Amino acid sequence: GLAVRKPGRPDYAVALSNGTGFGDGTLAVVAGPCSVESESQICEIAAAVKEAGAMALRGGAFKPRTSPYSFGGLGERGLDYLSRAREKTGLPVVTEILDARDIDLVARCADVLQIGSRNMQNFTLLFAAGGHPSGKPVLLKQGFGATVEEFLQAAEYVLLGRLSAGREDPGLVLCVRGIRTFEPSLRFTLDVGGLAVLRDRTHLPVIADPSHAAGDRRYVAPLARAAVAAGAQGIMVEVHRDPARAWSDGDQCLDFGGFKDMMAGLRRGG
Ligand code: PEP
Ligand code: MN
Repeated sequence: GLAVRKPGRPDYAVALSNGTGFGDGTLAVVAGPCSVESESQICEIAAAVKEAGAMALRGGAFKPRTSPYSFGGLGERGLDYLSRAREKTGLPVVTEILDARDIDLVARCADVLQIGSRNMQNFTLLFAAGGHPSGKPVLLKQGFGATVEEFLQAAEYVLLGRLSAGREDPGLVLCVRGIRTFEPSLRFTLDVGGLAVLRDRTHLPVIADPSHAAGDRRYVAPLARAAVAAGAQGIMVEVHRDPARAWSDGDQCLDFGGFKDMMAGLRRGG
């Protein structure tokens, strides 16, 4: 398969417009709120995470929510605010694409097209995102009920989409974000063993999302360190100026001080 590392094949890096990238030997840190709430909210968070060492900004404008009554994102207006935050900080934007019908819209703003856990086996979306004429790289999150093997097969769809659009370079980043196990103390179980296996099995960059895995901000930094120790080449983490007031996932959001501490812990390696 295209996503599987051939013997002796070196790591593949996905470069971003600001000179940073995934899998290039640096630790890629993507940070930002769960969802975009307002222009000032996203711009303020972007400036703070950049200052603390993030290389890209995350933030959902189209949100997959378990309950249809939860906040589903600002949609196109959210994308405009993300673009403003990029103008102000220079940080590339990672944002989720929920539906193949929205790809053109999202690709106009996003530097990286995120496909979430709940869509990991939405095969038409995987193929369409990979094959989008913009050539924007894709960040694919592991389904919370998916094995490493199924994750790699989902990645294959994205890479086939890219090939169909004439792109040989695998512009794809894989993100481990926790799976559902019998252990209920955290929201999900961050499978660091699976992460280490994934690093061997694929040449694609592999990052981890300790926020959605933990569901509780107290465990985000330890899980981030565990992921890096197991071979993660980057971290995607939720950060908010005022987590208690966040419109989604406040419990797992770090505040600015918490994010700085997490970064310091990663640099110390412990
Ligand atoms: C997210 O990163 O915004 C998200 C919804 O995460 P996941 O798809 O991993 O649940
Ligand atoms: Mn979230």
